[in-house]
Amino acid sequence: MNAPRPPLRSLDDALADLLARATPLAGVESVSTFDVDGRVLAQDQVSALQVPPQDNSSMDGYALRCADLGEGATPAAWPVSQRIPAGSAAQPLQARTLARIFTGAPVPEGADAIVMQEDTETLADGTVRVLRAPQPGQWIRRSGEDVTRGDAVLRAGQRLSPAEMGLAASIGLAQLPVAARPRVALFSTGDELVMPGTVPPQAMKPGAIYNSNRFFLRALLARLGCEVTDLGIVPDQREATVQALREASAGHDLILTSGGVSVGEEDHIKPAVQALGKLDLWQIAIKPGKPFAYGRVGDAHFIGLPGNPVSSFVTFALLVRPFVLRLQGATALTPPATRLPAHFDWPRPDKRREFLRVRRNAQGGLDLFANQSSGVLTSVAWSDGLVDNPPGCAIARGDAVSFISLSDLLA
Ligand code: AMP
Ligand code: MG
Repeated sequence: MNAPRPPLRSLDDALADLLARATPLAGVESVSTFDVDGRVLAQDQVSALQVPPQDNSSMDGYALRCADLGEGATPAAWPVSQRIPAGSAAQPLQARTLARIFTGAPVPEGADAIVMQEDTETLADGTVRVLRAPQPGQWIRRSGEDVTRGDAVLRAGQRLSPAEMGLAASIGLAQLPVAARPRVALFSTGDELVMPGTVPPQAMKPGAIYNSNRFFLRALLARLGCEVTDLGIVPDQREATVQALREASAGHDLILTSGGVSVGEEDHIKPAVQALGKLDLWQIAIKPGKPFAYGRVGDAHFIGLPGNPVSSFVTFALLVRPFVLRLQGATALTPPATRLPAHFDWPRPDKRREFLRVRRNAQGGLDLFANQSSGVLTSVAWSDGLVDNPPGCAIARGDAVSFISLSDLLA
């Protein structure tokens, strides 16, 4: 007897449901600013200082007071009254003198512009003639033009990347409070799976395939800041699956599996999760992707991805990624889409919302990978983005379509 098929649900509905269950994890860690790339900030960071701290020169040249130059006429050569390298303190500027100044050095009180050295001439007696009068304010970087004291420069829930690391350092932060890493147990199901390196290609038995999902899922989780326990391949047996889940539920926030979530008799995930906790099988109206499972085993979340590599990859990007980011309290969960012209035809759309593997071309349009089958991982490796195509929507060359960049989606 066949089990009744679960109803199809929309991606938006499934994502909202999933995120409602992703209560952010409690832990906060203080981590060196050097090591926070990709982590999620746990508390707002307010600047205790101005950046830059003082008005400073953006050129190597001379600081002067514009009014001293007078109107129009080429000024006489002036003495150089002080020398201000970066990192030193400046004295107030004496009238009708120049202060030698270097990039990043503080502008002396009384000076209101910098003339760059290329616009000056040094005479034999050491005095300097200004050949081109600067405008007031020229080549001066103002105190606080980057950061004002009291600004919340970084916000809780923000994902940190190299630019934010530099910005945090610029306001003096050597450590940052970030959300604890989600602890994720990962395993693949499937008796056909063989680990690369254990059997050479020419010795593979009929029906055997190499495990590819394990490689990209582990890397994708690591990019999202997860601490991954890789439990390898679990055979298609009820007891082995129960055993793996029991082991995985201890000390992990999430158990992620691939394969075995359809409703065939070789799909053991459903009864195994149900034996230990609870599970909902979802049929999500997307292509690739459809079967998807969410449940709980003990205190751990459980997510079962489909086995087909492209389906696994795409459902990870669309559903698991936002889930794992939300566990860390992240606020931006889904990347923005842009409208770009299709440079292809897609005359026979699916009834489900499709995520087509495409690549931007030099003409600013999108090319389609010819084989969109959910088993063809080459399509993902070739592409640099997905077209999010509404259900039943045919595409003609030149139509504007919704494009999501893979680098955003996998960051
Ligand atoms: P399943 O979801 O278990 O029914 O698997 C669907 C398809 O994906 C089958 O053709 C499997 O052989 C394939 N598959 C499942 N797991 C993996 C994996 N880890 N790596 C590569 N292909 C897989
Ligand atoms: Mg299977």
